[in-house]
Amino acid sequence: MESSTHRIVIVGGGAGGLELATKLGNTLGKAGRARVTLVDGNLTHIWKPLLHEVAAGSLDAATDELSYAAQAKWNHFDFIYGRMIGLDRRRRVIQLAGWKGAYLQDEVPPADVHYDTLVLAVGSVCNDFGTPGVREHCIFLDSRQDAERLRREMLERRLAAVAQGRSHILRVAVIGGGATGVELSAELRDANRKLAGYHGHQDSAEDLDIVLIEAGPRLLPALPEDIGLSVEKELRDKLGIRVLTGTAVKRVEADGLFDAKGSKIEVDMMVWAAGIRAPAFLRELDGLESNHIDQLVVRSTLQTTRDTTIFALGDCAACPLGNGVAGNVPPRAQAAHQEAELLARNLSLWVEGKPLLDFHYHDHGSLVSLASFNTFGNLLGNRMIEGWVAHFFYASLYRMHQSALYGSWRTARLMLGNFIAKNTRPLLKLH
Ligand SMILES: Cc1cc2nc3c(=O)[nH]c(=O)nc-3n(C[C@H](O)[C@H](O)[C@H](O)COP(=O)(O)OP(=O)(O)OC[C@H]3O[C@@H](n4cnc5c(N)ncnc54)[C@H](O)[C@@H]3O)c2cc1C
Repeated sequence: MESSTHRIVIVGGGAGGLELATKLGNTLGKAGRARVTLVDGNLTHIWKPLLHEVAAGSLDAATDELSYAAQAKWNHFDFIYGRMIGLDRRRRVIQLAGWKGAYLQDEVPPADVHYDTLVLAVGSVCNDFGTPGVREHCIFLDSRQDAERLRREMLERRLAAVAQGRSHILRVAVIGGGATGVELSAELRDANRKLAGYHGHQDSAEDLDIVLIEAGPRLLPALPEDIGLSVEKELRDKLGIRVLTGTAVKRVEADGLFDAKGSKIEVDMMVWAAGIRAPAFLRELDGLESNHIDQLVVRSTLQTTRDTTIFALGDCAACPLGNGVAGNVPPRAQAAHQEAELLARNLSLWVEGKPLLDFHYHDHGSLVSLASFNTFGNLLGNRMIEGWVAHFFYASLYRMHQSALYGSWRTARLMLGNFIAKNTRPLLKLH
């Protein structure tokens, strides 16, 4: 390809960025109308809404991850491994951090990547709201590495108890009663029950104490009240999870956390899942406009407000809802997916110098999975659904993402492969 070909660089191969790179590769890249490059700080993609399953061990990330290099080869785009740390808009380059391999003698130096058009899709991280002790003592669920760490630490604590011949009740606090905290709590309970018989673990229901803590008056504040209340009842009554609403965590120490009244809740492990913000390096990145949680402010075309050659999508973008509705698009996988679809069309128009389309968010509803116990949600603003119907739609969200990456035929083959492999593996990842 000639060096004068328009170069589109997408940073972040997550729910939105990888779908966009795949679409653009198969259109602009394949036709030689642009050179499409994806940059990510990891070598493989795992869909972020699966992280609570990875943390509990009910999903083995190694069997579900997708190699960026392979996806790039199959879909006519390039992949560069690296973590973006800076931007020089005048020179139109992004700056990648240097890195040190486990086996390399020398550090790989920082590098610049040139772009004509830049798309930032770097997602979000947990927001600790400046609460003292959170960074030091809590585990986050921002990445596959975080999820693996949570799983390994729980496993090691159990192995240590078995090795020392002592009974041990592991006390875990999950802070944040939004979808992530609720789904993680349910998944941990489910996984712990499935652990029975493995690792000298017999009475699984009794040896994991989970407390779910929410500052607001009820769980799932972003969802209709009836869903929040039904989920809370299910968690308490059927899953044996302690739910503390109206409890704001003010400080965290190694062995527990303190509420607004100064009362201490003693636990062994804490997971912080209370709200999100964009990665800190986006804050006023080379003069781009960012908001109070460091998201890049974009127009309805997904162009950043101060530089039309730079676009942003997904959790890292503050994008107006559109359709005349006030407010911003919520940080959700379905939003990143819709934005990726619009941006794929817009960037085709952009390289031809044509006017761009506006983004309008369509809320198709929300679904919350309580592992194998139940699923709750609402679709298209209708009343609450639960049970297998809700679970079917919940599972189909991931299938839609896979379909955007692999096409329907290959997704069907992957589903069949997973179904067959299920009977040949333990119920959980145990190592
Ligand atoms: C446990 C959990 C459950 C969830 N469940 C749901 C759900 O049921 N439904 C729903 O709609 N949403 C859900 N979400 C939210 C959803 O995962 C996000 O809204 C969605 O993934 C955002 O997509 P994105 O493309 O903006 O970012 P991400 O999918 O987070 O991808 C960001 C990518 O950028 C890369 N990256 C980050 N920084 C850099 C850098 N400096 N340089 C290079 N690469 C970088 C990362 O490696 C990653 O690949 C859940 C989130 C979590 C944590």
